Amino acid sequence: MLKFPSPYQKVLPHDIPVIYPQDYTKNTTIGNRIVGSIVGLAVGDALGASVEFRSHQYLSAYPIFGMMSGGTWGLEAGQWTDDTSMALCLAASLITEKGYDAYDQMVRYKWWYKYGYLSSTGHCFDIGNGTRDALDEFYARQNHLKKKLNLQHDLDVDQLPRRIIREMRFNVNCSKPETLGNGALMRLAPVPLFFYRKPSLAVELSGQSACLTHGDDIAIDACRYYGALIVAAIIGESKENILSEQFYHTHRTWFGIKPLHSDIIYIANGSFKQPGGYKDGIRGKGHVVMSLEAALWAFWKGKSFRDGVLNAVNLGDDTDTTAAIYGQLAGAYYTYQKIPQNWINQLYANSLIICIGQWLQVSGYRETQKSKHKKAQRVKSLPPNLLKQHTHVNKILSGGIQHLPTEKKHKKRHRSKHVKSPPVIDLAEILLKNELF
Ligand SMILES: [Mg+2]
Repeated sequence: MLKFPSPYQKVLPHDIPVIYPQDYTKNTTIGNRIVGSIVGLAVGDALGASVEFRSHQYLSAYPIFGMMSGGTWGLEAGQWTDDTSMALCLAASLITEKGYDAYDQMVRYKWWYKYGYLSSTGHCFDIGNGTRDALDEFYARQNHLKKKLNLQHDLDVDQLPRRIIREMRFNVNCSKPETLGNGALMRLAPVPLFFYRKPSLAVELSGQSACLTHGDDIAIDACRYYGALIVAAIIGESKENILSEQFYHTHRTWFGIKPLHSDIIYIANGSFKQPGGYKDGIRGKGHVVMSLEAALWAFWKGKSFRDGVLNAVNLGDDTDTTAAIYGQLAGAYYTYQKIPQNWINQLYANSLIICIGQWLQVSGYRETQKSKHKKAQRVKSLPPNLLKQHTHVNKILSGGIQHLPTEKKHKKRHRSKHVKSPPVIDLAEILLKNELF
């Protein structure tokens, strides 16, 4: 099992022992898409890091073509910033906790903020305002809880059993209102990579992962929409489909009851398809709507991973984040093999990032199998009448039976036997609500 060190050990990412999962099958297309997405994020971040906050005019005169050292943070070529650190915190949580645990995600983000956990330099040197405010709020809420429970150390409250967190009604959503930065979108990928086998769940949790630090509906829906695009890329949908104006409508069932915010629907309807790019209003700024639009523009305009990521960086401004957002989707679509190998070789802690990608696939698969097994056990323990209905409705849902019996036919059938039974469709709803399908 891949073990992540405690933040107090101060182990830098390149010193974390890389232990690959034994049950990972190399060179499968899905595996290459998953690893491509997380590596694509980090490569985009590292390419943009050397020119973060440079203007479009500057980058038009001195465009970026590869990994460079220097820039705002004085990094070595290939070192990455907050985008990758936070994505690795999220991935570490999903892998270690074997699923989605919002409290643990916030604890790991706090470790990065306070102790430089999973930072390429050992320090938190690049953090957005929305994220900082939310992590300060989380720390204050944890301190309140620590006093209430009379705990001595921060680690005691970090490692509280989830039962106590629930009983104390601890609110993990620490965002200030109207937080509209791109800080949740930039770290999103691990959620769809882990849960892609259940697209509706992947989309829902993509939104919830944003809520922790970026609680505005627009930021949440940017993550729901982009999470859906990443799932579509992982399962092998075409670029044409992924970027289609019809995507939201053709995948509407993935988005549950709540429709996307109109600002995100505007993007889904193709606002990013601007041939002139910057001249046509595409901007790589920190606002989540602009970032999303810019990353999609780079993907739409580019003919390869390399082409698109350079489009993203050379837009200027929030270069590392635009490229990190782009890299999540483009890496999934083009696959790991299509990311230039010399960039991967230069990428800081590249083995760890590849290893984390493999663990996301394997852990996600194991958890899906476990939940399928639990579901099968619940079905087995159904009383005979419900089990019979379950089998019948399952056949209908799998297309084995074309029509549900009409209420009229159903009544008629049972009238002759003098037995009263609820209509099949009601039972289907009960079974679905209890996750028996
Ligand atoms: Mg950054």
